[in-house]
Amino acid sequence: MNVYDSELIAIRLAATGYQQTPRLEKADLVILNTCTIRAKAEQKAFSFLGRLARLKKKKPGLIVGVGGCVAQQEGAEILKRVPHLDLVFGTQAIDRLPALISKIEAKRCRIVDVSMSENPDLVDAAPADPDHYAVSRFVTIMRGCDNFCTYCVVPYVRGRETSRDPDNIVKEIKFFVDSGVKEVTLLGQNVNSYGKKEGLLSFTELLARVQAIEGLLRIRFTTSHPKDFDQDLIDAFQENDKLCNHIHLPVQSGSNQVLKRMNRKYTKELYLDKVTKLRDTCPEIAITSDMIVGFPGESDADFDETLALMKKVEFDGLFAFMYSDRPNAPATRFKAKISESQKSERLQILLELQETYTKKKNVALIGSIQPIIAEGISKKQSSGSLDQPDQAVQWTGRTSTNKIVNFYHGDISGSSSNIFPGKMVQVKIDKAYAHSLWGKPVEIESTAEGLKGEKSYAA
Ligand code: SAM
Ligand code: SF4
Repeated sequence: MNVYDSELIAIRLAATGYQQTPRLEKADLVILNTCTIRAKAEQKAFSFLGRLARLKKKKPGLIVGVGGCVAQQEGAEILKRVPHLDLVFGTQAIDRLPALISKIEAKRCRIVDVSMSENPDLVDAAPADPDHYAVSRFVTIMRGCDNFCTYCVVPYVRGRETSRDPDNIVKEIKFFVDSGVKEVTLLGQNVNSYGKKEGLLSFTELLARVQAIEGLLRIRFTTSHPKDFDQDLIDAFQENDKLCNHIHLPVQSGSNQVLKRMNRKYTKELYLDKVTKLRDTCPEIAITSDMIVGFPGESDADFDETLALMKKVEFDGLFAFMYSDRPNAPATRFKAKISESQKSERLQILLELQETYTKKKNVALIGSIQPIIAEGISKKQSSGSLDQPDQAVQWTGRTSTNKIVNFYHGDISGSSSNIFPGKMVQVKIDKAYAHSLWGKPVEIESTAEGLKGEKSYAA
């Protein structure tokens, strides 16, 4: 969500004549887009803002702005805490950014704009520079959240749940596809409730419209709330061949007592039942989840139930967090807080258990051929390890199940490569690590019997 918002901010600033620079000291304007979901993210934001003091001293004309959830939460308080800050703008103020910046340029004043509306005008992405589009893009389909999980700050800093108009979503995706994008990830805090409040299309109807976009190869989405995850969406995985074979279904805890106090509105039995139904229909589907350890009052027995649920589901991947108190979130006032050392101990146990499943799922793919959209040259271009052919380029992409796959192909000059970003490549997996897979590109051929064979690409 924040990546998408940062892009929107960049688009709005480009429209007012600002260009991006990779060098902070060259900038005339610095905007920090912040997250406050956990205390650590907020601390990082303040520490970065603090470091900008020296730059502002050297360059008094520099405009420094802070947006996103920390801005929404703290408002004018940040101006007091950060004397060199010029602008605080909230999560619904992105569209007003050009006007706010112009005012600061003209009057050298300090501004706070964190006003929120019950029915915000949802900003539609007016794409900026198609040359910089990657193969895969995020597309926000809804903003805010109405679920009020007791640990979560989102409803307070992002406002009420609001869905974007489906025509605008489809128009935006078509524009991206015309610019070379092959895969989109539809974003919302609870995509299952897309359009319900506004009486728009349902989420699965929206998926069908996105599926019909010519040239788009893959669709992903996040996040699905287990309480609203239903048979319609399970059927969509079967019917919609562009929909990737992966679902992120955050469970948060395996204890009913904790789930109730989290206000998640499902039980572990309901969650497990939905997972079973999903796997009955889509046996190959990858399931990932979020888990919070150390929620107030979480006993050893509650934590054991979380481990038991993990053993039953065997998630493909897990994002695990230590609970942290957040402003306005009701759980902040809950008693029986768990100590930091106990949270950290539980997190370690949980991560170690998860590592075994992540590795197991990856190892199971060795020998299989996976369709990958080549996304680009891997950031970690390694030198001579892992059977790297001389001068070969290290490519990266993801399986339909969202596992990272690296492979070597072509050479650095690009002269012998028939792979390019956006190309669908069949990769035979030959190595599995904890968080990635390695393979070799192969060509799939039809044989006389109509069966599919394979041969290696000329690299
Ligand atoms: N809407 C999604 C859902 O319902 O699962 C989650 C969105 S939230 C931005 C991402 C994750 O952050 C949550 O799933 C939760 O695991 C974690 N999280 C949120 N608030 C937290 C807190 N106060 N302490 C620790 N983790 C938290
Ligand atoms: Fe936060 Fe719960 Fe909404 Fe997810 S569903 S954003 S965890 S309140």
